[in-house]
Amino acid sequence: MSGNFGELRTNHLHSGLDFRTQGVSGKKLLSIGDGYISRILITHGSGHMLHVRYNNGYTAIYRHLSGFVSPIAERAENYQYENETWEVSIIPDSTEYLVHAGQQIAWSGNTGYSFGPHLHMDLFETESGDYVDALPFYKHLIKDTRAPVIQGIMFFPQPGQGVVNGRENRQTFIPAQMKSVEAWGVIGVGIKANDYMDETNGRFGVYIVSLSVGGKEVFRSVVDRFSANESRMIYSWTQNTYMKSFIEPGNKLRMLQAFNDKNGLITIDEERNYQFNYVLKDLYGNTSKYQFVVRGKPRSIVQPDYTGKYYLKQGKVNSISEPGLELHIPKESLYDNVLLNYNVRIDSGAIANTYQLNNELIPLHTYADLYIGVRNNIVTDTTKYYIARIGKNGQTAFLGGTYDNGFIKTRVRELSSFTVQADTISPKITAVNPGQWRNTGNVIFKIEEKETDISSYRGTIDGKYVPFGLEIMTNRIIYRVNPLKVKKRTGHTIQLVVTDKCGNQGTITMDAVL
Ligand SMILES: [Zn+2]
Repeated sequence: MSGNFGELRTNHLHSGLDFRTQGVSGKKLLSIGDGYISRILITHGSGHMLHVRYNNGYTAIYRHLSGFVSPIAERAENYQYENETWEVSIIPDSTEYLVHAGQQIAWSGNTGYSFGPHLHMDLFETESGDYVDALPFYKHLIKDTRAPVIQGIMFFPQPGQGVVNGRENRQTFIPAQMKSVEAWGVIGVGIKANDYMDETNGRFGVYIVSLSVGGKEVFRSVVDRFSANESRMIYSWTQNTYMKSFIEPGNKLRMLQAFNDKNGLITIDEERNYQFNYVLKDLYGNTSKYQFVVRGKPRSIVQPDYTGKYYLKQGKVNSISEPGLELHIPKESLYDNVLLNYNVRIDSGAIANTYQLNNELIPLHTYADLYIGVRNNIVTDTTKYYIARIGKNGQTAFLGGTYDNGFIKTRVRELSSFTVQADTISPKITAVNPGQWRNTGNVIFKIEEKETDISSYRGTIDGKYVPFGLEIMTNRIIYRVNPLKVKKRTGHTIQLVVTDKCGNQGTITMDAVL
């Protein structure tokens, strides 16, 4: 394996298992039980995908496939030609594609957002839709005698309520350094750890993390199930790659449990040693233990300046209204209260001001409505404007937006720095080795679109639609020639039109022998 269930990823919990395929595509994917194919999908993100609804109450999703087998392959291809779209979504009925254990259903691959050939398999309970761990079904086939490894501890002194080593900010320690930690007031702790297995160099998520203080368990995470909606709550559960051993008020991940009256936060209010004990387990029962002492030592706790610009409350509707800026955050968006370090940067020549809502990114669970005013109309076509998020190093990310009465409006799912930019540059299209298309059977174009992103594309051969597909990892658009649709070894006129997210179009028209 190369990935396990619930592993921490940047903005989600990994929902399935990743199986290695010896570095190649085209391994036979066999059904693991009796059931039927309940969904046939081709997407840009997950490539070729199949859902198989098994008779035992579970449904599997297989992603990044290189192709389907007959007759599913033909069904998907016909859909592409009929609907004039690369992306496919077919929901067959329960009698159309019955499968039995051991039957081949597809070929493994490396399509979509994938960093190398592998098979991704999700398993969800058909009835609840909850993702669950498929590893128990494979456990007997995999060897694992290695226990999780603890790499660091993070302290989270709570704003205005606690300090660690005399400081109000978060602090990390590697296990060997954890000699003398002093604290006072309300603090949280978190742990960084990975699990390992025999015979594979992968790093995996940890199944169970349990924290006890003074012999009493205060927190436990058991990575056994989550819904698609809960997956984003990783933003609240983790800080970088540290898993918090307390639960923020807006975090509804069912895998986390706290057993004290402070959702896992610890109150240090006596001058004595507090014994912290972590126990980590993997699915095979391999166990690691780690303990450290926090010394209670009275300290004054500095109160944050709540009279400053914006103190946003979790569980409430929050709004920000400034010249050139409106932000409306719904009730269920914030995971915790947050004091923003709001700031505006005014550049008189720019399209709009740059609004720093907070210098450190604050994730939102549901979208907030953001409006930014246009100060300098540098283009007459207002569809070219979009809201951009400005990263720490000045890099920008496209967030979309529509023009309305002097403002650009979009939805955001994090609080960060934002401004308005314009994209008037068309995607650039280049043919890749057209002299080889005839031999390889692949018509390949490379797309360059720096400002925003590709929104849509359409390719034709001799004026007729053919299903070109976008490879998001390489920004190439490829048509694999089907000789039943396109006559081989003769000249053809090939056209590709690519549109970016601000409506700028690039077109290439060329003749080639296929
Ligand atoms: Zn995966």
